[in-house]
Amino acid sequence: MKHQNTVRTTCPYCGVGCGVLATAQADGAVKIVGDPDHPANFGRLCSKGLALGETFAAARRLMRPRVHGEDASWDNATALVAQKFSDAIREFGPESVAFYVSGQLLTEDYYVANKLMKGFIGSANIDTNSRLCMASAVAGHKRAFGADIVPCSYSDLEEAELVVLVGSNLAWCHPVLFQRLLAAREKHGTKIVVIDPRRTITAESADVHLQIKPGADVSLFNGLLRHLYGRDAFDGRFVFARTNGLAHALIAAQTHDDATVTAHTGLSFDDLQGFYGLFARYSKTVTGFSMGVNQAIDGTDKVNAIINCHLLTGRIGKPGAGPFSITGQPNAMGGREVGGLANMLAAHMDFANEAHRDAVQAFWRSPRIASQPGLKAVEMFEAVEAGRVKALWIMATNPVVSMPNSSAITSALAQCPFVVVSDVTADTDTARFADVLLPARGWGEKDGTVTNSERRISRQRQFSEPVGEARADWRIVCDVARAMDFDGFEYESAADIFAEHVQLTMLGNNGTRRLNLSAWQSQSYDDMPPQQWGSAQAFSDGRFETPDGKARFVTTVFAPQNSDQITLNTGRIRDQWHTMTRTGLVAKLFGHRAEPYIELHPSDALQLGLQDAELAVVSGVAGASVVRVMVTDAVCTGSAFQPMHWNSGFAAHGMVNAATVGKVDPVSGQPALKSAQVSVRKFEARWYGFGVALKVDPTGLDYWAKRPLSCGVSLECAGLALPKSWNDLVSQLFDLRVNSDLSTVQSSDPAEVRFVSLRDGVLEFAFFASSAPVSASRSWLQGLVGKPVSALDVLAARTAGGHIDQGPIVCACNGVGRFAILNAAESTPGLNLQALCEVTGAGMGCGSCRPEVQKILVNRPQFAVAAE
Ligand code: SF4
Repeated sequence: MKHQNTVRTTCPYCGVGCGVLATAQADGAVKIVGDPDHPANFGRLCSKGLALGETFAAARRLMRPRVHGEDASWDNATALVAQKFSDAIREFGPESVAFYVSGQLLTEDYYVANKLMKGFIGSANIDTNSRLCMASAVAGHKRAFGADIVPCSYSDLEEAELVVLVGSNLAWCHPVLFQRLLAAREKHGTKIVVIDPRRTITAESADVHLQIKPGADVSLFNGLLRHLYGRDAFDGRFVFARTNGLAHALIAAQTHDDATVTAHTGLSFDDLQGFYGLFARYSKTVTGFSMGVNQAIDGTDKVNAIINCHLLTGRIGKPGAGPFSITGQPNAMGGREVGGLANMLAAHMDFANEAHRDAVQAFWRSPRIASQPGLKAVEMFEAVEAGRVKALWIMATNPVVSMPNSSAITSALAQCPFVVVSDVTADTDTARFADVLLPARGWGEKDGTVTNSERRISRQRQFSEPVGEARADWRIVCDVARAMDFDGFEYESAADIFAEHVQLTMLGNNGTRRLNLSAWQSQSYDDMPPQQWGSAQAFSDGRFETPDGKARFVTTVFAPQNSDQITLNTGRIRDQWHTMTRTGLVAKLFGHRAEPYIELHPSDALQLGLQDAELAVVSGVAGASVVRVMVTDAVCTGSAFQPMHWNSGFAAHGMVNAATVGKVDPVSGQPALKSAQVSVRKFEARWYGFGVALKVDPTGLDYWAKRPLSCGVSLECAGLALPKSWNDLVSQLFDLRVNSDLSTVQSSDPAEVRFVSLRDGVLEFAFFASSAPVSASRSWLQGLVGKPVSALDVLAARTAGGHIDQGPIVCACNGVGRFAILNAAESTPGLNLQALCEVTGAGMGCGSCRPEVQKILVNRPQFAVAAE
């Protein structure tokens, strides 16, 4: 849908699925604003969405196919992929090949990849990084409802009287949805309860935060089921008419009396009763859950323990009520719709049903059809390592960084006979293992559809020419399929594929499957508006997709986590997305968190001999990462938090999954990424360094992390031993030139040095080293690169021109730091949040940082002593 040169499209990051208006500018830039008419966001975007226009840099793009590191033609690369896959199938059978795909793919891409693997190759070895995100929710839905259907809509969060968020840092991971929730609370006083072992910004904003022990959710919700039943706070008519299995679930829940639950969860009796009382009181209750629930060894049981409480109270299929799985990925839901997981067939049809298999095979006119589930993500890479998978195609994802146990993934890829990677980025940690690299079109260069967390299908639309020879993923798959001599892949466009997907959802569907896109038949693909499938509240008719039409209570089992090690919780931060291949291009998205880090409780830090800003080695059985220490009581004793984003392009040893292992939920196959057992010790740095420069090469340093600046790059680093020569180190790091003007100061401590290099009076680089973490103002030095400066001022860390040290950036949109907000709050007592935002500019862009601004306002003394 084009309005002059403005195109209506959808954000490619998270499962909120915000509408975006993209307008090409005369200078080639793209202006991004939120689409006021999109029902997911009504014009709002978060910091990541607003920065989409800055991710079009061609610098790191894969421009043309490469075979064994050499440029190749599309014809040759396609022929080679087809031949290698055909050879493996011929020699070792269809189970010897696999696709590992992505929730970043568009529905049309997913559809043809699934069709090729399951209908033509005849294996179900297609799985996706969505396995890491929401497979437990899918499995929980299927157990309870008979189908993978999310019952709720975003409007339910706004209509609810009580919103319970379990294992969900909604403020950072789904910021626009969180803003909608806060706005609703402002209007009618929604109660918000957050259940999370970590005191996240979401928890800080809630009415109640239940800081439970990691992994205690099943006990908490089984106890709730028991409480609700014991207090007659249930809907007997709904349970009788619409459900099965309550008796068994209650028998299991009876062991979860209050004393047991308080022991399991670490909550006080009063907190427990307070929560149970709230849940019993409000009939309009939505329980939102996310990775903190799904990424667990008992993730599926957690999901069903939550759903059980909604079934008991009949709080499902009604406005403002329901269990709501909030997905992480932009098109995890679209992938689920087409069947792009190893344990699904297609369009909500199952392997176990022979009639479904026959119908899908006849519809596709395919020579065969997979008859049983294939390899799930962790199993797939284990099979690759064991030599059972001979040819692997990875599409639009970076498993070396995102899968648990990175070293096992690299080892599997290194020994796989044939690896294909199709991606937009030339040099990911995974692309390095590819025999064939295929350039895919990026966001804005392609057409297709995505489905968000509330089952709303929206269009992504092309508004930019593809770079180099990049092609749409669906076309790459179809070209390979045709080169393998398969018929059925002769599509002219994404619209053709979507039309076929619509027909498949209608196949033999006389109302038995809610996933029925018949309403899209008459819809023009070009003008397709964002539209939900199913009703806003699925199951509003009281019918579920089980054989008898009733929902099922599931007996859930609490799995205690006993460990004398630290339990590592991994997750996302506010301004980065996945493995940073896109958001890592945007300087301002590093202002909030610039370096990989671990949050440790003060008592654990004391015991480990670690202080704030030092470095720690975080070790699991398979490997270790080195990260900055952040001491905070936001985490419980015995647990820690580390973000999942950093890849080897931004930090030497920052990958969190170096220390995680591939333990999975036995029902869903989802890895337990929230509960790795790790040991933490001090990285015995002899020196710490900080530098800013036009460019940097940190190769060989014991520790480094770098981030882009609006001009140049910034470097944090450290060494286990003093360098033989500081001059040599600096020359290598910053490519010192003969005609540069280098100034140095060195103290009696051999670790205390400062270097400044100017060229024609302009700062090329500055580097400060110290035996303790360097305390110089980052925000000041980072703004000097490429500008005329006085070497003496820089060496003396003497700010010129009345510079105010912003401190760590809180508001990414307007570049407002913590100290600037604090100073404004201190100098004008009595400011409320809105006034503080107006005075400082913080929170006046996307608004995602407002909870943090509020925290600064409330906790001023604590922040007054904080050091950068
Ligand atoms: Fe994109 Fe942010 Fe909206 Fe998610 S919340 S879809 S990242 S703009």
